[in-house]
Amino acid sequence: MSVTKKDTTVLQNFINGVWVSSNSSHTLNVPNPATNEVLTKVPVSTKEDVNAAVAAAKEAFNKWKKVPVPKRARILFKYHSLLSDNHEELARLIVQENGKAFKEAYGEVQRGIECVEFASGAPTLMMGETLSGIAEEIDSEMFRYPLGVVGGITPFNFPMMVPLWMFPLAIACGNTFVLKPSERTPILANRLAELFSEAGAPPGVLNVVHGAHDVVNGLLDHEDIAAISFVGSQPVAKYVYERAAAKGKRVQALSGAKNHHIVMPDADSDKAVQHIISSTFGSAGQRCMACSAVVVVGDNEPFVKALAKKADELIIGNGMDDEVLLTPVIRKEHRDKVLGYIEKGIAEGADLIRDGRKEMSDYPEGNFLGPTIFDHVTPEMTIAKDEIFAPVLSLLRASDLDEGLEYIRKSRYGNGATIYTNNAKAIRQFREEADAGMLGINVGVPATMAFFPFSGWKDSFYGDLHVNGKDGLNFYTRKKMITSRFEA
Ligand code: NAD
Repeated sequence: MSVTKKDTTVLQNFINGVWVSSNSSHTLNVPNPATNEVLTKVPVSTKEDVNAAVAAAKEAFNKWKKVPVPKRARILFKYHSLLSDNHEELARLIVQENGKAFKEAYGEVQRGIECVEFASGAPTLMMGETLSGIAEEIDSEMFRYPLGVVGGITPFNFPMMVPLWMFPLAIACGNTFVLKPSERTPILANRLAELFSEAGAPPGVLNVVHGAHDVVNGLLDHEDIAAISFVGSQPVAKYVYERAAAKGKRVQALSGAKNHHIVMPDADSDKAVQHIISSTFGSAGQRCMACSAVVVVGDNEPFVKALAKKADELIIGNGMDDEVLLTPVIRKEHRDKVLGYIEKGIAEGADLIRDGRKEMSDYPEGNFLGPTIFDHVTPEMTIAKDEIFAPVLSLLRASDLDEGLEYIRKSRYGNGATIYTNNAKAIRQFREEADAGMLGINVGVPATMAFFPFSGWKDSFYGDLHVNGKDGLNFYTRKKMITSRFEA
């Protein structure tokens, strides 16, 4: 089957190797967050669209699972080279639909390519284990097999990296895949599918179905879906985990975050400020590994002053402009929600030391909000507890490291945490006691690379096996044990 030309007014689904229109005539606009110019429309597909994609993936699985693993890996090598050849174009698409700065989008493409690199090692990754002589003349072997059809549901904030956390490894392991990208950033997913097909992936191995809740529920309930990989906000992650697990599916659901950065009195203040500014305000704070709460240990007014001053200097604007660090949030509705949090912070008694609302009128065309910083936030306040997912930072004060670690323990989330210090004892205590899955020592965004698991804790993750690394491999494979008797 050949890939047909795409309709550019409404995005199409990619099912069984061809571009097809959704059964639904209901569409949503996809605006550029910096200008609110409508880029395209995305269909709100139906369960029938999901059923067609799952049927294609199920059919393709029968052949794909038998394709020798090195041959599967060769398609990924080719995909790697196509993604690298189109690195800039992919980054530009991300800026257009997500709004982040080009430099960050370029970095995101790189992170995605690294996932393909990891998955290309499938022949080594898929190796089993053997033990000769578990008993007299009896040997045991373990082989890995794919699960079947996997469903992937992804968020708006990393339209390239998150889908690539999922389908390259799942497919390298012999599964077939149905991807439901975020309806707010659906454009890149089609380009990813197009390039994957160009790399030689047979029809039905990767399918893309656009839409919202109905598509998600269609995947969660479908009896031919063996596993669900989900990344998104906490309430949805929990819902997805519970609904899919109740249907007997394997599920990994990566969720929201509230990442604390502890600044010790001995920290290099300039470097801590620099890392915190880029972690908090990069991608407009819309990263699950963004710093959103700083714990200032001791009476460190110079650090707080330096942080506020640096925030004042940030250049706000369209991500295509090289100078810009602070870009818009994804939608006006999201900004309205964030404005509600700012009101709540004031009402609950936090000190608003930098009010980003004052910059909003300078950029009326997009969903901009200037850097916003609250001081003297306490762990009980709403702005300290909730994930705000915006350029809004809370400063909490602590008398010592123990108190700072207690704040992290109290948080329902446990994606990441960082400490700024050169004190070996403090570093070790932080490493042992910080209640989060990805820690940074003088690192602003301690996100792991594709060969390690992306390992959030507490309400930042539902499931057992994380994405990437050996966890990812174990998630996308099941094991078969063979015990053989060799009698004379
Ligand atoms: P979201 O939960 O709104 O959407 C994620 C996906 O779920 C989308 O595909 C969406 O269509 C679908 N969805 C949304 N509401 C639904 C519902 N009620 N029923 C069924 N499906 C639904 O998340 P988002 O705003 O796109 O992404 C931002 C969130 O993702 C943040 O909370 C962020 O922390 C989280 N995130 C986490 C990680 C991680 O590794 N833990 C990585 C990236 C993003």
